[in-house]
Amino acid sequence: MTQQISKFPRPMPQIDPDHQEWWAGLRRHEVLVQECPRCSALIFPPQPTCPHCRCLERGWRKSSGRGKVYSWIVVRRPSHPWFADKVPYPVVVVEMEEGFRVVGSIDCRLEELREGLAVEAGFEDIDEQVTLLRFRVAE
Ligand SMILES: [Zn+2]
Repeated sequence: MTQQISKFPRPMPQIDPDHQEWWAGLRRHEVLVQECPRCSALIFPPQPTCPHCRCLERGWRKSSGRGKVYSWIVVRRPSHPWFADKVPYPVVVVEMEEGFRVVGSIDCRLEELREGLAVEAGFEDIDEQVTLLRFRVAE
């Protein structure tokens, strides 16, 4: 009798109250950024208070989804068994057109990565609640 090797479930993000709008935006295939209604600062990652003027109100603005690779790393040792057959893969920091920086995955070959590479947001629907941001090289 052969025994089935159990697959590890995919690790999923924990959605805390500060990030709910961000995740709701991704679900609609939109990239949102928190925007302070008092001083207009763009805040990322989302926070309960504006770090510039301490305003407690929060607003949101839709990003174009376009940006440029600012920096990256290549993951070669999986941090969780689910990623074991995914390594090596890049994780990028993208400077969005609006000026805020986002950490994310990217679909591209490692050799393609370079500073300033133009990228755009892509969306990976995982289940009924979660959509992940996956950048791709812009056309
Ligand atoms: Zn502010």
